[in-house]
Amino acid sequence: MTHIATENYKTQARAATRNIVLQGALAGLQERLGKGTALAYQDLPEGPDLRYKAHDIRMHAINNLDVLLKQLAEKIRSQGGHVFFAVDGKSAAAYCLDIARKHHVKLVVKGKSMVTEEIRLNDALTNEGIDVYETDLGEYIIQLAGEHPSHILAPAIHKTREDIGRLFSEKLNISYTDDPPSLTKAAKTALREKFFAADMGISGCNLACAETGHITTVSNEGNIRMSSTMPKIHMVFMGMERIVDSLKDHNILLRMLCRGASAQKLATYVSHISGPAPTDHLDGPEAFHLVILDNGRSRILADKNFREMLCCVRCGACLNVCPVYRKIGGHAYGYAYSGPVGAVVTPLLIGINRAKHLCQGETLCGACKDICPVNIDLPRMLLELRWKLASGDPQWHVRRENRLEKAVYQGWSHLTRNRRLYDLSLWATKLLQKMLPKRSSMIAWMPPPLNGWTDSRHMKPIAKTSFSKKWKQHKLDSR
Ligand code: SF4
Repeated sequence: MTHIATENYKTQARAATRNIVLQGALAGLQERLGKGTALAYQDLPEGPDLRYKAHDIRMHAINNLDVLLKQLAEKIRSQGGHVFFAVDGKSAAAYCLDIARKHHVKLVVKGKSMVTEEIRLNDALTNEGIDVYETDLGEYIIQLAGEHPSHILAPAIHKTREDIGRLFSEKLNISYTDDPPSLTKAAKTALREKFFAADMGISGCNLACAETGHITTVSNEGNIRMSSTMPKIHMVFMGMERIVDSLKDHNILLRMLCRGASAQKLATYVSHISGPAPTDHLDGPEAFHLVILDNGRSRILADKNFREMLCCVRCGACLNVCPVYRKIGGHAYGYAYSGPVGAVVTPLLIGINRAKHLCQGETLCGACKDICPVNIDLPRMLLELRWKLASGDPQWHVRRENRLEKAVYQGWSHLTRNRRLYDLSLWATKLLQKMLPKRSSMIAWMPPPLNGWTDSRHMKPIAKTSFSKKWKQHKLDSR
């Protein structure tokens, strides 16, 4: 997959729906995590409505981003850290390379970070001859396989343990096994020496707090803690929206993040980092750098229709309930972010026309909004994006797509407001559908341009008796 492959959405999605192994893995993930997260909200002492409070906390932070980021930067600097505001991915990577060169960095260990995926930091480092090792087990697997994450939290969900067994046998030079504990041990052994040898540790940032001037990292494997404490330099990459105002807000968000991400009350390892280690400490990095990335976020901030998207804490909960993600997995989305969050944020970051399939591919069922720990209205923003594609938008440089589609919907709107015409079209459709091939009384094929509906599933024919007729009959019967 190239860095941006959103144009391959349809072909990738079609291939994914035919991949039986992937289908099983995605269904298992949603059964476990999707349901688990919904239950975890029920168990909150404050009840599931804490999601609304979390939304308000995030919106307050987003509406005061300029002040809060300044406060965070001042605090970090006063605690001995360095802060760099990167306007885009290129400048963020250039800053990292500059520090790496100054300190003769040869080996980097990394904790999982979607922002560094977004800006392809690993490529920038390896192009400079620096060895980079992902240390999250899932990320390590896909790095060895030369792939990209297919889920925000479970990056290797598309791989079976047999795949991983073969991969480890080839890349780590061990005997083949598909026993998960043995595979985990093999990865641990391989990575341990990297932790000891690394000159720089890189991590993402799950949350930052302006009041205290610290960043928080969350993991279940302990790898981020090792990446952030063992090398002499720790560099954190943070999307500029990942901030909250106060420690009180931070703690609510942290609880919601862990529930959304993995249905846990709290992740196994939570670290709060505010700068380099004090000089009298035996452990910890000598230098701490925080890179705060814009990369298109200011544009989202400036548009009141999409500002809410910056509330996202990249927990991945929306992927775990999305019926589209369940069928097509993450790679079809062709960018770092997949699922409903990817369907909204990717077009906003890389261009709405360029990523048009992503927002057009979602069902608008609303499950993503209901499971989101910060109650982001993704369906509303999907509609906003579709509206822009249908009408064009100079502010976002959106070219109007598919004029025919708009005409079809205008016709549909006209039809549904004219009873006689509507009944006539129903009658004609029923007649036409008789000619289509069926399987188990479902329509098995439709002609172009409607064949997309039946490519990977069968379609229910229009009912013999319409709802309005049944309703009239029901009213007559109940008199
Ligand atoms: S949109 Fe909500 S559920 Fe989806 S990743 Fe962002 S915070 Fe999590």
